[in-house]
Amino acid sequence: MPGWISTPASAGCDADWAANLSRMVAAKQWSSGLSDIVNKLQSGQRLTVEDGIKLYEHPNLHEVGQLANMAKMARYREYVFFNSNVHINQTNICVLACKFCAFRRSKRQSDAYDLSIDAYLEEMAKYANLVDEVHSVGGLHPDWDVEHYENLINAAKQHYPDIAIKALTAVEIKHLSQQSDITYQETLERLKAAGLDSLPGGGAEILNDDVRKIICNGKESSSEYLEIHRRAHALGIPSNCTMLFGTIESIRDRVLHMDQLRKLADEYNLFQCFVPYPFLPDSTRLPEAQLATSNEVLRTIAVSRLMLDSIPHIKAYRMNIGDEVAELALNYGADDIDGTVRQESIMHLAGANSSLNYDIYQMAKLVKDAGFVPIKRNTTYTYFTTINIEPPKRPRRLNVIA
Ligand code: SF4
Repeated sequence: MPGWISTPASAGCDADWAANLSRMVAAKQWSSGLSDIVNKLQSGQRLTVEDGIKLYEHPNLHEVGQLANMAKMARYREYVFFNSNVHINQTNICVLACKFCAFRRSKRQSDAYDLSIDAYLEEMAKYANLVDEVHSVGGLHPDWDVEHYENLINAAKQHYPDIAIKALTAVEIKHLSQQSDITYQETLERLKAAGLDSLPGGGAEILNDDVRKIICNGKESSSEYLEIHRRAHALGIPSNCTMLFGTIESIRDRVLHMDQLRKLADEYNLFQCFVPYPFLPDSTRLPEAQLATSNEVLRTIAVSRLMLDSIPHIKAYRMNIGDEVAELALNYGADDIDGTVRQESIMHLAGANSSLNYDIYQMAKLVKDAGFVPIKRNTTYTYFTTINIEPPKRPRRLNVIA
């Protein structure tokens, strides 16, 4: 299938998106509560933290969504991106015990596991003909250091040179640097030399250390999360960033979180995608969590699209929010939807029931049903292919009985 290319920094985004957005917002009447924000978008100004809070508090969710959808259309028109990937979690053994985590196990628990390098390769072998990215995150294993991961990544690259490796969240990088008694910089350099292509964004949770102390005590601090991604970007390793919401944070915390991420993105322009997802409570230890409604999920997608002007992609993480809300999120500013995935346990152990093991045509249908043009992308948003699917054989139309 013929495709087209982009650079990691522009990641498929229209270079004239700000001018496009200015024209688009000028062509519509908006309610007075949004006029300051609309004026800023029209004149190409960055929204402030107070503007972000205003968007969260605006009474008309759909109007906020319309604004965010324009910001998405200004960058990518009717395109929506997905990739062909598989999740392989190398271990669920973790020395920490974050309260929101349903995945981690202690070494002694009967369902604890740690995949040997051969077992990891066997997992890859099951999907090697179907995917071009493996996404690997896991627990902080007490016995694994950076050398273990160099060997793992090296072996994976030798066997499957065409499969990109997106692996190791910031807290895993911190753990490996401690295990090997080396700096973050050296840890990342060695992993990159072994074949690591990019970092996933997990572990950002909420970048407020008071909140982190309660929900994930012992995890990397907010500044450590940012520093590890900064180091990665300086080495030319692109990464994603995330936000876990619906625990105990405030609206201001969420917007301040976005503000910190966009400021870091200003430095190297290598945050590729922001992935906001709500806390899921099954098998976790956070009864005080406020939980997020679907309204809040859609609003968070929309606010992040409008706030994060220096992060090109906003993902509807269907593993967590399900296909139905993800489909709606594509109309509220998201331009990217999590891919084929094939298998997933972190969100499913916490209560998600989203469909797994999609092929690219099922993904394309999901995007098309939401009203957009499905585009398959590679890991780093530098190669794109349009996926054409036939329209559904039977139109989905209900009979109306007079
Ligand atoms: S979220 Fe990560 S670091 Fe925290 S307990 Fe779970 S696996 Fe460990």
